[in-house]
Amino acid sequence: MGDKKAEKSAWEIALEQFNIAADKLNLDAGLRDVLSHCKRELTVNFPVKMDDGSVKVFTGYRVQHNLARGPAKGGIRYRDDVTLDEVKALAMWMTWKCAVVGIPYGGGKGGVIVDPKPLSQREMENLTRRYATEISVLIGPERDIPAPDVNTDEQTMAWIMDTISMHRGYTVPAVITGKPIALGGSLGRKEATARGVQYTIIQAAKQLGLDLKGATVVVQGYGNAGSIAARLMSELDCKIIAVSDSQGGAYNPKGIDPVAIANHKKATTTVVGFPGTGKITNKELLELPCDILIPAALEKAITKENAPRIKPKIIAEAANGPTTPEADEILYANNVLVIPDILCNAGGVTVSYFEWVQDLQNFFWTEDEVRAKLKMIMDASYAAVQEMAAKHKIHMRTAANMLAVSRVAEATRLRGIYP
Ligand code: NAD
Repeated sequence: MGDKKAEKSAWEIALEQFNIAADKLNLDAGLRDVLSHCKRELTVNFPVKMDDGSVKVFTGYRVQHNLARGPAKGGIRYRDDVTLDEVKALAMWMTWKCAVVGIPYGGGKGGVIVDPKPLSQREMENLTRRYATEISVLIGPERDIPAPDVNTDEQTMAWIMDTISMHRGYTVPAVITGKPIALGGSLGRKEATARGVQYTIIQAAKQLGLDLKGATVVVQGYGNAGSIAARLMSELDCKIIAVSDSQGGAYNPKGIDPVAIANHKKATTTVVGFPGTGKITNKELLELPCDILIPAALEKAITKENAPRIKPKIIAEAANGPTTPEADEILYANNVLVIPDILCNAGGVTVSYFEWVQDLQNFFWTEDEVRAKLKMIMDASYAAVQEMAAKHKIHMRTAANMLAVSRVAEATRLRGIYP
Protein backbone atom coordinates (compact mmCIF):
# COMPACT_ATOMS: atom_id res chain seq x y z
CA MET A 1 0.00 0.00 0.00
CA GLY A 2 2.98 2.42 0.30
CA ASP A 3 6.12 3.03 -1.78
CA LYS A 4 6.17 -0.27 -3.64
CA LYS A 5 9.84 -0.17 -4.69
CA ALA A 6 11.26 0.42 -1.22
CA GLU A 7 8.96 -2.14 0.38
CA LYS A 8 9.48 -5.81 1.00
CA SER A 9 7.11 -8.00 -0.96
CA ALA A 10 4.36 -9.87 0.84
CA TRP A 11 6.30 -13.09 0.19
CA GLU A 12 9.45 -11.67 1.79
CA ILE A 13 7.36 -10.68 4.80
CA ALA A 14 5.72 -14.11 5.03
CA LEU A 15 9.15 -15.76 4.91
CA GLU A 16 10.51 -13.40 7.55
CA GLN A 17 7.59 -14.19 9.88
CA PHE A 18 8.09 -17.90 9.24
CA ASN A 19 11.81 -17.67 9.98
CA ILE A 20 11.18 -15.89 13.30
CA ALA A 21 8.91 -18.77 14.38
CA ALA A 22 11.25 -21.43 12.93
CA ASP A 23 14.20 -19.94 14.89
CA LYS A 24 12.24 -20.02 18.13
CA LEU A 25 11.21 -23.63 17.42
CA ASN A 26 14.76 -24.65 16.47
CA LEU A 27 13.30 -26.19 13.33
CA ASP A 28 15.79 -28.43 11.55
CA ALA A 29 17.29 -27.15 8.32
CA GLY A 30 15.56 -29.67 6.02
CA LEU A 31 12.08 -28.93 7.32
CA ARG A 32 12.77 -25.23 7.22
CA ASP A 33 13.74 -25.54 3.57
CA VAL A 34 10.61 -27.54 2.72
CA LEU A 35 8.27 -25.13 4.52
CA SER A 36 9.85 -22.05 3.01
CA HIS A 37 8.84 -23.15 -0.48
CA CYS A 38 5.44 -23.33 -2.12
CA LYS A 39 4.80 -26.85 -3.37
CA ARG A 40 3.05 -25.80 -6.59
CA GLU A 41 2.87 -22.45 -8.41
CA LEU A 42 0.65 -22.42 -11.47
CA THR A 43 0.55 -19.40 -13.82
CA VAL A 44 -2.14 -19.31 -16.48
CA ASN A 45 -2.55 -16.90 -19.40
CA PHE A 46 -5.98 -17.21 -20.93
CA PRO A 47 -8.17 -15.42 -23.48
CA VAL A 48 -11.56 -13.92 -22.68
CA LYS A 49 -14.14 -12.73 -25.21
CA MET A 50 -15.14 -9.17 -24.32
CA ASP A 51 -18.55 -7.61 -24.99
CA ASP A 52 -17.25 -5.54 -27.93
CA GLY A 53 -16.12 -8.71 -29.72
CA SER A 54 -12.42 -8.24 -28.92
CA VAL A 55 -10.29 -10.88 -27.22
CA LYS A 56 -8.21 -10.02 -24.16
CA VAL A 57 -5.60 -12.22 -22.48
CA PHE A 58 -5.56 -12.27 -18.67
CA THR A 59 -2.99 -13.76 -16.29
CA GLY A 60 -3.95 -15.73 -13.19
CA TYR A 61 -2.33 -17.88 -10.54
CA ARG A 62 -3.12 -20.78 -8.24
CA VAL A 63 -0.52 -21.62 -5.62
CA GLN A 64 -0.42 -24.50 -3.13
CA HIS A 65 2.01 -23.98 -0.29
CA ASN A 66 1.92 -27.17 1.82
CA LEU A 67 -0.43 -30.16 1.69
CA ALA A 68 0.87 -32.23 4.60
CA ARG A 69 -2.28 -31.71 6.72
CA GLY A 70 -4.85 -32.00 3.93
CA PRO A 71 -6.02 -30.54 0.62
CA ALA A 72 -5.21 -26.93 -0.23
CA LYS A 73 -7.65 -24.26 0.90
CA GLY A 74 -7.63 -20.56 0.11
CA GLY A 75 -9.47 -17.77 -1.63
CA ILE A 76 -9.29 -16.27 -5.09
CA ARG A 77 -8.81 -12.53 -5.51
CA TYR A 78 -9.30 -10.27 -8.51
CA ARG A 79 -7.16 -7.12 -8.60
CA ASP A 80 -5.19 -5.28 -11.22
CA ASP A 81 -2.00 -5.47 -9.18
CA VAL A 82 -2.06 -9.12 -8.09
CA THR A 83 1.44 -10.65 -8.21
CA LEU A 84 2.71 -14.22 -7.91
CA ASP A 85 4.69 -13.15 -4.82
CA GLU A 86 1.53 -11.92 -3.14
CA VAL A 87 -0.39 -15.12 -3.97
CA LYS A 88 2.51 -17.20 -2.62
CA ALA A 89 2.48 -15.25 0.65
CA LEU A 90 -1.27 -15.63 0.97
CA ALA A 91 -0.97 -19.39 0.31
CA MET A 92 1.68 -19.75 3.02
CA TRP A 93 -0.46 -17.77 5.47
CA MET A 94 -3.36 -20.13 4.66
CA THR A 95 -1.21 -23.12 5.65
CA TRP A 96 -0.51 -21.54 9.03
CA LYS A 97 -4.12 -20.35 9.44
CA CYS A 98 -5.61 -23.80 8.90
CA ALA A 99 -3.05 -25.26 11.31
CA VAL A 100 -3.62 -22.65 14.01
CA VAL A 101 -7.35 -23.42 14.14
CA GLY A 102 -6.71 -27.14 13.67
CA ILE A 103 -8.72 -27.77 10.50
CA PRO A 104 -7.43 -30.48 8.14
CA TYR A 105 -6.23 -28.39 5.21
CA GLY A 106 -3.03 -27.14 3.67
CA GLY A 107 -2.65 -23.64 2.26
CA GLY A 108 -3.55 -22.39 -1.20
CA LYS A 109 -4.46 -19.13 -2.87
CA GLY A 110 -5.44 -17.84 -6.29
CA GLY A 111 -5.59 -14.55 -8.09
CA VAL A 112 -6.27 -12.97 -11.45
CA ILE A 113 -4.70 -9.71 -12.61
CA VAL A 114 -7.84 -7.77 -13.47
CA ASP A 115 -9.62 -4.63 -12.38
CA PRO A 116 -13.17 -5.96 -12.16
CA LYS A 117 -14.81 -2.52 -11.97
CA PRO A 118 -15.09 -1.75 -15.72
CA LEU A 119 -16.05 -5.34 -16.65
CA SER A 120 -19.67 -6.26 -17.39
CA GLN A 121 -21.34 -9.16 -15.59
CA ARG A 122 -20.97 -11.29 -18.73
CA GLU A 123 -17.26 -10.48 -19.07
CA MET A 124 -16.77 -11.38 -15.38
CA GLU A 125 -18.54 -14.68 -15.95
CA ASN A 126 -16.47 -15.47 -19.06
CA LEU A 127 -13.26 -14.63 -17.22
CA THR A 128 -14.20 -16.66 -14.13
CA ARG A 129 -15.27 -19.75 -16.08
CA ARG A 130 -12.12 -19.74 -18.18
CA TYR A 131 -9.87 -19.15 -15.16
CA ALA A 132 -11.64 -22.01 -13.32
CA THR A 133 -11.03 -24.24 -16.34
CA GLU A 134 -7.34 -23.28 -16.46
CA ILE A 135 -6.80 -24.07 -12.77
CA SER A 136 -8.98 -27.20 -12.91
CA VAL A 137 -5.74 -29.19 -13.25
CA LEU A 138 -5.24 -28.38 -9.56
CA ILE A 139 -8.61 -27.83 -7.91
CA GLY A 140 -11.14 -30.42 -6.75
CA PRO A 141 -12.95 -31.42 -3.54
CA GLU A 142 -10.17 -33.73 -2.44
CA ARG A 143 -7.27 -31.63 -3.76
CA ASP A 144 -7.74 -27.88 -3.55
CA ILE A 145 -10.88 -26.00 -2.58
CA PRO A 146 -10.99 -22.25 -3.39
CA ALA A 147 -13.21 -19.62 -1.73
CA PRO A 148 -13.96 -15.88 -2.04
CA ASP A 149 -11.42 -13.16 -1.35
CA VAL A 150 -11.00 -9.55 -2.48
CA ASN A 151 -13.42 -8.70 -5.32
CA THR A 152 -14.89 -12.19 -5.61
CA ASP A 153 -18.19 -13.22 -4.05
CA GLU A 154 -20.94 -15.86 -3.94
CA GLN A 155 -21.73 -15.38 -7.62
CA THR A 156 -18.09 -15.94 -8.58
CA MET A 157 -18.10 -19.14 -6.52
CA ALA A 158 -21.35 -20.29 -8.20
CA TRP A 159 -19.77 -19.90 -11.67
CA ILE A 160 -16.68 -21.86 -10.61
CA MET A 161 -18.81 -24.63 -9.10
CA ASP A 162 -20.92 -24.83 -12.26
CA THR A 163 -17.87 -24.85 -14.55
CA ILE A 164 -16.18 -27.74 -12.72
CA SER A 165 -19.54 -29.56 -12.56
CA MET A 166 -19.98 -29.20 -16.34
CA HIS A 167 -16.53 -30.74 -16.90
CA ARG A 168 -17.33 -33.69 -14.63
CA GLY A 169 -20.89 -34.20 -15.85
CA TYR A 170 -22.37 -34.08 -12.36
CA THR A 171 -22.76 -31.47 -9.62
CA VAL A 172 -19.64 -31.00 -7.48
CA PRO A 173 -20.59 -28.57 -4.70
CA ALA A 174 -17.55 -29.38 -2.54
CA VAL A 175 -15.08 -28.03 -5.12
CA ILE A 176 -15.55 -24.53 -3.73
CA THR A 177 -16.86 -22.79 -0.60
CA GLY A 178 -18.56 -19.46 -0.05
CA LYS A 179 -21.29 -20.52 -2.49
CA PRO A 180 -24.87 -19.26 -2.36
CA ILE A 181 -27.01 -21.23 0.12
CA ALA A 182 -29.16 -22.42 -2.79
CA LEU A 183 -26.14 -24.26 -4.25
CA GLY A 184 -24.92 -25.99 -1.12
CA GLY A 185 -23.42 -23.03 0.69
CA SER A 186 -23.37 -23.03 4.48
CA LEU A 187 -25.53 -20.89 6.69
CA GLY A 188 -23.28 -18.39 8.42
CA ARG A 189 -20.48 -18.51 5.81
CA LYS A 190 -21.00 -15.00 4.48
CA GLU A 191 -20.47 -13.44 7.90
CA ALA A 192 -18.01 -16.07 9.18
CA THR A 193 -14.81 -14.08 8.75
CA ALA A 194 -16.28 -11.12 10.61
CA ARG A 195 -17.90 -13.39 13.21
CA GLY A 196 -14.47 -14.90 13.95
CA VAL A 197 -13.02 -11.38 14.18
CA GLN A 198 -15.75 -10.52 16.70
CA TYR A 199 -15.09 -13.66 18.78
CA THR A 200 -11.34 -12.97 18.95
CA ILE A 201 -11.95 -9.31 19.89
CA ILE A 202 -14.19 -10.47 22.75
CA GLN A 203 -11.33 -12.67 24.01
CA ALA A 204 -8.77 -9.88 23.61
CA ALA A 205 -11.02 -7.43 25.46
CA LYS A 206 -11.38 -9.95 28.26
CA GLN A 207 -7.59 -10.33 28.39
CA LEU A 208 -7.16 -6.55 28.69
CA GLY A 209 -10.16 -5.89 30.92
CA LEU A 210 -11.61 -3.61 28.24
CA ASP A 211 -15.35 -2.98 28.39
CA LEU A 212 -16.65 -3.32 24.84
CA LYS A 213 -19.72 -1.25 25.64
CA GLY A 214 -18.98 2.16 24.19
CA ALA A 215 -15.52 1.10 22.96
CA THR A 216 -14.55 3.03 19.82
CA VAL A 217 -13.87 1.10 16.62
CA VAL A 218 -12.19 2.12 13.35
CA VAL A 219 -12.47 -0.11 10.27
CA GLN A 220 -10.19 0.14 7.23
CA GLY A 221 -11.77 -1.56 4.17
CA TYR A 222 -15.54 -1.91 3.93
CA GLY A 223 -16.12 -5.11 1.99
CA ASN A 224 -17.21 -8.55 3.14
CA ALA A 225 -14.87 -8.72 6.12
CA GLY A 226 -14.86 -5.06 7.20
CA SER A 227 -18.51 -4.08 6.82
CA ILE A 228 -19.84 -7.16 8.59
CA ALA A 229 -17.22 -6.82 11.36
CA ALA A 230 -18.41 -3.23 11.90
CA ARG A 231 -22.01 -4.41 12.18
CA LEU A 232 -21.15 -7.24 14.57
CA MET A 233 -19.09 -4.90 16.78
CA SER A 234 -21.92 -2.39 16.92
CA GLU A 235 -24.21 -5.23 18.00
CA LEU A 236 -21.93 -5.47 21.06
CA ASP A 237 -22.60 -1.75 21.70
CA CYS A 238 -19.24 -0.61 20.38
CA LYS A 239 -19.18 2.77 18.64
CA ILE A 240 -17.99 2.74 15.02
CA ILE A 241 -16.29 6.13 14.58
CA ALA A 242 -14.61 5.77 11.17
CA VAL A 243 -14.65 3.44 8.18
CA SER A 244 -12.99 3.53 4.77
CA ASP A 245 -12.69 1.91 1.36
CA SER A 246 -10.34 2.35 -1.58
CA GLN A 247 -11.84 5.77 -2.33
CA GLY A 248 -11.31 7.23 1.18
CA GLY A 249 -12.91 7.33 4.60
CA ALA A 250 -15.86 8.64 6.59
CA TYR A 251 -15.49 9.89 10.18
CA ASN A 252 -17.94 10.79 12.90
CA PRO A 253 -16.72 10.74 16.52
CA LYS A 254 -20.35 10.46 17.66
CA GLY A 255 -20.73 7.13 15.85
CA ILE A 256 -21.74 5.80 12.43
CA ASP A 257 -24.57 3.37 11.67
CA PRO A 258 -22.65 0.49 10.03
CA VAL A 259 -25.63 -0.83 8.06
CA ALA A 260 -26.75 2.57 6.77
CA ILE A 261 -23.23 3.35 5.55
CA ALA A 262 -23.01 -0.08 3.88
CA ASN A 263 -26.22 0.78 2.02
CA HIS A 264 -24.75 4.15 1.08
CA LYS A 265 -21.70 2.33 -0.34
CA LYS A 266 -23.96 -0.02 -2.29
CA ALA A 267 -25.81 2.96 -3.81
CA THR A 268 -22.79 5.20 -4.49
CA THR A 269 -19.85 2.66 -4.62
CA THR A 270 -18.14 4.32 -1.62
CA VAL A 271 -18.52 5.09 2.09
CA VAL A 272 -17.20 8.61 1.38
CA GLY A 273 -19.84 11.33 1.69
CA PHE A 274 -22.18 9.37 3.97
CA PRO A 275 -24.49 11.98 5.53
CA GLY A 276 -23.33 13.16 8.96
CA THR A 277 -19.69 12.11 8.42
CA GLY A 278 -16.59 14.09 7.56
CA LYS A 279 -14.02 13.04 4.97
CA ILE A 280 -10.83 11.39 6.14
CA THR A 281 -7.97 9.76 4.23
CA ASN A 282 -7.01 6.13 4.75
CA LYS A 283 -3.69 7.32 6.18
CA GLU A 284 -5.41 9.54 8.76
CA LEU A 285 -7.97 6.87 9.57
CA LEU A 286 -5.34 4.33 10.66
CA GLU A 287 -3.88 6.85 13.10
CA LEU A 288 -7.16 7.91 14.73
CA PRO A 289 -7.26 7.45 18.50
CA CYS A 290 -9.61 4.51 19.18
CA ASP A 291 -9.92 1.36 21.28
CA ILE A 292 -10.09 -1.15 18.43
CA LEU A 293 -8.64 -0.85 14.94
CA ILE A 294 -9.78 -3.40 12.36
CA PRO A 295 -7.65 -3.40 9.20
CA ALA A 296 -9.86 -5.19 6.65
CA ALA A 297 -8.38 -4.12 3.33
CA LEU A 298 -5.01 -5.29 1.99
CA GLU A 299 -1.42 -6.14 2.93
CA LYS A 300 1.09 -3.71 4.42
CA ALA A 301 -1.32 -1.08 5.77
CA ILE A 302 0.68 -0.77 9.02
CA THR A 303 4.41 -0.28 8.49
CA LYS A 304 7.35 1.09 10.47
CA GLU A 305 6.41 4.54 9.05
CA ASN A 306 2.96 4.83 10.63
CA ALA A 307 3.14 2.23 13.43
CA PRO A 308 4.55 4.67 16.04
CA ARG A 309 1.38 6.77 15.63
CA ILE A 310 -1.07 3.82 15.73
CA LYS A 311 -2.05 3.26 19.35
CA PRO A 312 -5.40 1.52 19.78
CA LYS A 313 -5.72 -1.01 22.59
CA ILE A 314 -6.44 -3.81 20.10
CA ILE A 315 -5.68 -4.32 16.41
CA ALA A 316 -7.86 -7.09 15.00
CA GLU A 317 -6.45 -8.19 11.65
CA ALA A 318 -9.45 -9.04 9.50
CA ALA A 319 -7.19 -8.53 6.47
CA ASN A 320 -4.35 -10.88 5.60
CA GLY A 321 -0.88 -9.44 6.12
CA PRO A 322 -1.84 -5.86 7.09
CA THR A 323 1.16 -5.42 9.44
CA THR A 324 4.85 -5.68 8.56
CA PRO A 325 7.34 -7.40 10.92
CA GLU A 326 8.99 -4.05 11.79
CA ALA A 327 5.59 -2.57 12.66
CA ASP A 328 4.84 -5.62 14.83
CA GLU A 329 7.80 -4.80 17.07
CA ILE A 330 6.78 -1.14 17.40
CA LEU A 331 3.18 -2.05 18.27
CA TYR A 332 4.34 -4.66 20.78
CA ALA A 333 6.63 -2.12 22.47
CA ASN A 334 3.67 0.28 22.66
CA ASN A 335 1.46 -2.35 24.33
CA VAL A 336 -0.92 -2.62 21.40
CA LEU A 337 -2.47 -6.08 21.40
CA VAL A 338 -2.38 -7.34 17.80
CA ILE A 339 -4.68 -10.29 17.09
CA PRO A 340 -2.75 -11.74 14.14
CA ASP A 341 -4.48 -12.39 10.82
CA ILE A 342 -3.99 -16.16 10.85
CA LEU A 343 -6.01 -16.29 14.06
CA CYS A 344 -8.27 -13.24 13.80
CA ASN A 345 -9.74 -13.88 10.34
CA ALA A 346 -9.71 -17.70 10.52
CA GLY A 347 -13.49 -17.77 10.99
CA GLY A 348 -13.85 -17.58 7.21
CA VAL A 349 -11.84 -20.70 6.45
CA THR A 350 -13.32 -22.49 9.45
CA VAL A 351 -16.88 -22.12 8.19
CA SER A 352 -15.60 -22.90 4.68
CA TYR A 353 -14.45 -26.18 6.20
CA PHE A 354 -17.94 -26.65 7.67
CA GLU A 355 -19.44 -25.96 4.23
CA TRP A 356 -17.17 -28.53 2.59
CA VAL A 357 -18.00 -31.14 5.26
CA GLN A 358 -21.76 -30.49 4.78
CA ASP A 359 -21.41 -30.72 0.97
CA LEU A 360 -19.50 -34.01 1.17
CA GLN A 361 -22.17 -35.48 3.44
CA ASN A 362 -25.20 -33.83 1.82
CA PHE A 363 -26.32 -33.02 5.31
CA PHE A 364 -26.80 -29.43 6.34
CA TRP A 365 -26.53 -27.73 9.72
CA THR A 366 -28.55 -24.94 11.30
CA GLU A 367 -27.01 -21.51 11.68
CA ASP A 368 -26.91 -21.99 15.45
CA GLU A 369 -24.86 -25.17 15.02
CA VAL A 370 -22.45 -23.39 12.68
CA ARG A 371 -22.02 -20.49 15.11
CA ALA A 372 -21.56 -22.72 18.16
CA LYS A 373 -18.92 -24.86 16.40
CA LEU A 374 -17.15 -21.75 15.11
CA LYS A 375 -17.10 -20.15 18.57
CA MET A 376 -15.65 -23.29 20.10
CA ILE A 377 -12.80 -23.37 17.58
CA MET A 378 -12.06 -19.63 17.71
CA ASP A 379 -12.08 -19.46 21.52
CA ALA A 380 -9.88 -22.54 21.90
CA SER A 381 -7.44 -21.27 19.25
CA TYR A 382 -7.26 -17.84 20.88
CA ALA A 383 -6.53 -19.45 24.25
CA ALA A 384 -3.80 -21.65 22.77
CA VAL A 385 -2.10 -18.68 21.08
CA GLN A 386 -2.41 -16.53 24.19
CA GLU A 387 -0.84 -19.28 26.30
CA MET A 388 2.05 -19.66 23.84
CA ALA A 389 2.60 -15.88 23.85
CA ALA A 390 2.62 -15.72 27.65
CA LYS A 391 4.91 -18.75 27.99
CA HIS A 392 7.56 -17.39 25.61
CA LYS A 393 6.96 -13.67 26.35
CA ILE A 394 6.38 -12.94 22.67
CA HIS A 395 3.66 -11.18 20.69
CA MET A 396 0.61 -13.05 19.45
CA ARG A 397 1.82 -13.22 15.82
CA THR A 398 4.99 -15.13 16.61
CA ALA A 399 3.03 -17.28 19.07
CA ALA A 400 0.40 -18.13 16.42
CA ASN A 401 3.12 -18.85 13.87
CA MET A 402 5.01 -21.08 16.31
CA LEU A 403 1.87 -23.06 17.04
CA ALA A 404 1.04 -23.39 13.35
CA VAL A 405 4.54 -24.12 12.09
CA SER A 406 5.07 -26.80 14.72
CA ARG A 407 1.83 -28.55 13.66
CA VAL A 408 2.66 -28.40 9.96
CA ALA A 409 6.26 -29.44 10.62
CA GLU A 410 5.07 -32.44 12.62
CA ALA A 411 2.72 -33.55 9.83
CA THR A 412 5.42 -33.03 7.20
CA ARG A 413 7.97 -34.97 9.25
CA LEU A 414 5.54 -37.85 9.96
CA ARG A 415 4.72 -38.23 6.27
CA GLY A 416 8.39 -38.39 5.37
CA ILE A 417 10.01 -37.71 2.03
CA TYR A 418 8.67 -39.57 -0.99
CA PRO A 419 10.01 -41.80 -2.54
P1 NAD B 1 -13.81 -7.22 -0.43
O1 NAD B 1 -13.45 -7.12 -1.86
O2 NAD B 1 -15.18 -7.65 -0.06
O3 NAD B 1 -13.52 -5.81 0.30
C1 NAD B 1 -12.30 -5.15 0.26
C2 NAD B 1 -12.52 -3.73 0.76
O4 NAD B 1 -11.26 -3.07 0.91
C3 NAD B 1 -13.34 -2.87 -0.20
O5 NAD B 1 -14.24 -2.06 0.53
C4 NAD B 1 -12.28 -1.99 -0.87
O6 NAD B 1 -12.78 -0.76 -1.32
C5 NAD B 1 -11.32 -1.80 0.29
N1 NAD B 1 -9.99 -1.37 -0.11
C6 NAD B 1 -9.25 -1.79 -1.16
N2 NAD B 1 -8.08 -1.11 -1.19
C7 NAD B 1 -8.10 -0.28 -0.12
C8 NAD B 1 -7.19 0.67 0.39
N3 NAD B 1 -6.02 0.90 -0.20
N4 NAD B 1 -7.53 1.34 1.52
C9 NAD B 1 -8.72 1.12 2.13
N5 NAD B 1 -9.62 0.25 1.68
C10 NAD B 1 -9.30 -0.45 0.58
O7 NAD B 1 -12.72 -8.18 0.23
P2 NAD B 1 -12.82 -9.02 1.59
O8 NAD B 1 -13.20 -10.40 1.24
O9 NAD B 1 -13.56 -8.25 2.62
O10 NAD B 1 -11.27 -9.06 1.98
C11 NAD B 1 -10.63 -8.02 2.73
C12 NAD B 1 -9.44 -8.59 3.45
O11 NAD B 1 -9.88 -9.66 4.29
C13 NAD B 1 -8.38 -9.20 2.54
O12 NAD B 1 -7.10 -9.01 3.12
C14 NAD B 1 -8.73 -10.67 2.54
O13 NAD B 1 -7.63 -11.49 2.19
C15 NAD B 1 -9.13 -10.82 3.99
N6 NAD B 1 -9.95 -12.01 4.27
C16 NAD B 1 -11.16 -12.22 3.66
C17 NAD B 1 -11.88 -13.36 3.96
C18 NAD B 1 -13.25 -13.63 3.37
O14 NAD B 1 -13.86 -14.63 3.75
N7 NAD B 1 -13.77 -12.81 2.48
C19 NAD B 1 -11.38 -14.30 4.86
C20 NAD B 1 -10.16 -14.05 5.49
C21 NAD B 1 -9.46 -12.90 5.19
